[in-house]
Amino acid sequence: MTKKINIFSNHYDISEKVTERLIQEFKLHGYEANENFSPDADYNVVIGGDGTFIKACHDSDFSDIPFIGINTGHLGFYQEVPANNVELMVSRLINKEYQVQDIKLIDCSVFTEENSYNFLSVNEIVLKAKYTNIIHFNMYVNDILLQSFAGDGVIFSTPSGSTAYNLSAGGAMLYQALDGFQITPMAPIRSSLFRSLDKSLVVPSNTQIKLITRKREETFSSLGVDGMLQEFEDINYINITMSDKTIKKLVFDENWYWKNIKEKFI
Ligand code: NAP
Repeated sequence: MTKKINIFSNHYDISEKVTERLIQEFKLHGYEANENFSPDADYNVVIGGDGTFIKACHDSDFSDIPFIGINTGHLGFYQEVPANNVELMVSRLINKEYQVQDIKLIDCSVFTEENSYNFLSVNEIVLKAKYTNIIHFNMYVNDILLQSFAGDGVIFSTPSGSTAYNLSAGGAMLYQALDGFQITPMAPIRSSLFRSLDKSLVVPSNTQIKLITRKREETFSSLGVDGMLQEFEDINYINITMSDKTIKKLVFDENWYWKNIKEKFI
């Protein structure tokens, strides 16, 4: 049976060129690589930046097939392989010279009067007011009312998403293998009226978060799922926790994470 590779590309010129080279290189090793997703492929190869990687996870419905990232000129936090190194990457792939790492996902369920909606995120879930007003909600942690939040919003980020929006909002970088997630407030109000938590919290993966909107007339909320906007007019409550599902990512250099942090953030 022909061995298969799924390719996800952002279709910029450079990515198209890398795709062509990669298809030829895989063909030499008896693999059929193309952009029509096959559920029985051996690998998912993503050509582009982090945006392309995140889109590939969502478009493949969080496929269990291991992902490999080839960076074509972006920040490329998820994209380990440089575009000029694809031949070496293919040979290391064929010889199974890699480690498999888990990318943890956040699970978010939104409950409105009539429906419920479920989302998985690779980077983060962000709850914000839809307009420029303050958003108010009660945050429960494992059924304990931890805070009545008022401010711009809150970010719930995975360890590997902690270097994205979370970092810009003042959160910490979390080592990607840590078994937990981070809650980072955005412009929290600290006054005698509102006592929102103004620092990030890092919680274990089995933590159950429940957000209950506090003023029904102000429940026009935006939910950002890995930067993709979801709008709701009547949220009753939101449940957030770590998903049991993960994305498998192949890593060729065991020190890749630290090199990435050094090169891209320091
Ligand atoms: P984008 O707006 O086109 O790009 C967002 C930037 O964040 C890109 O440079 C991207 O890298 C980088 N990035 C994505 N995930 C990352 C990670 N885990 N660690 C470090 N950098 C990362 O949107 P996009 O490419 O579709 O990415 C969506 C993400 O944008 C969201 O998940 C959110 O984290 C982020 N975002 C950040 C802010 C902010 O920092 N103020 C605001 C909104 C959204 P590439 O260049 O390699 O694509």
